[in-house]
Amino acid sequence: MSTLLEVSGVSVTFDGFRAINNLSFRIGPAEMRAVIGPNGAGKTTFMDIVTGKTRPDEGRVIWGERSVSLLKMSEARIAQAGIGRKFQKPTVFEDQTVEENLLMALKKPRSWVSVLSYRPSREDIEKVYGLAQEIGLQDALKRKSGELSHGQKQWLEIGMLLAQEPRLLLVDEPAAGMTPQEREHTTDLLVEAAKTCAVVVVEHDMEFVRRLNCKVTVLHEGSVLAEGSLDHVTSNQDVIDVYLGR
Ligand code: ADP
Repeated sequence: MSTLLEVSGVSVTFDGFRAINNLSFRIGPAEMRAVIGPNGAGKTTFMDIVTGKTRPDEGRVIWGERSVSLLKMSEARIAQAGIGRKFQKPTVFEDQTVEENLLMALKKPRSWVSVLSYRPSREDIEKVYGLAQEIGLQDALKRKSGELSHGQKQWLEIGMLLAQEPRLLLVDEPAAGMTPQEREHTTDLLVEAAKTCAVVVVEHDMEFVRRLNCKVTVLHEGSVLAEGSLDHVTSNQDVIDVYLGR
């Protein structure tokens, strides 16, 4: 199977503390992966490395068919190369409608002035409608984003990331604070997204991970402790010990 992102032998030290320790990870195009692990396991730092926010002391981070090193690229270049990141809290433009948020994401304009003076093409409008359908907000296009529920804001932000046609999406605890119905919709949305781009989901909720029905990587003390199906990793004695704090 081909590789989209390959992290190998990566380590990061903060003030003498090894937050990431010889970590290796690979994901193929349009693959879904859940990354789990107790607090402090290194999940956030791992995502920071992939997006260029944190630079490792050693190791390699290789991207795409042309095997370019992400370590030589700025955060902005990495984003342009097709790596999108969704933080835990939704960050949408609350005073703008769902449609305007999606249009803005589609165009990536430099300022709101350019948004206000911008007349979307028919193609852009169609794209926005398609995205709204995909995220289940087709009936909320004219609503101000600030009026949406927490779950809807999360979907909108995922839609805004998808508007940029990423090849890899990193999503941090998407189901946190959601109702069971919202969680279900979030699962469907991510599974649908993973048909066109690779998706890495960092999540604590095991039921949510189960529904994603994908390979799971367990991090512990900055390294991969186990990898495989959820049943495989949760029956691993090392994983059980880590989760029970032994
Ligand atoms: P997780 O997301 O799995 O909870 P993190 O990646 O946030 O774990 O953190 C991994 C470890 O690195 C933790 O022990 C954390 O305290 C430490 N750490 C993370 N960022 C920094 C930093 N900027 N300075 C010092 N220590 C850090």
